Amino acid sequence: MLTCSFCGLDAKSVGALLAGPNVNICDQCIDIGLRTIATRDALEQPNPSPSDLEKTGDEALLHEMAAASKLVDKTRDRLQRQVPELRRRGVDWTAIGTALGVSHQVAQERFG
Ligand SMILES: [Zn+2]
Repeated sequence: MLTCSFCGLDAKSVGALLAGPNVNICDQCIDIGLRTIATRDALEQPNPSPSDLEKTGDEALLHEMAAASKLVDKTRDRLQRQVPELRRRGVDWTAIGTALGVSHQVAQERFG
């Protein structure tokens, strides 16, 4: 029975399973990978320079602003679910603060 090399689910439990020479990946793990890459790409996009911003038309700027706002909301939602899950697992505020680049007090005030 073929299984996904990433999550371990068997071919019957997933929508599709791509089989490679030594590894297999299911549609769900591909989706997680694509979302991870899309998030990274969005976060790594450089902010436009002030002169580029001035040259951007109203419609394009409204579109970009809406996309940036959606990304902020999605990221905030993700954080609001990740932090309680880490706390449920017993991860302390110091470790969470270190990962976020803030003190444990700041992490706890923000998410506690
Ligand atoms: Zn998988």
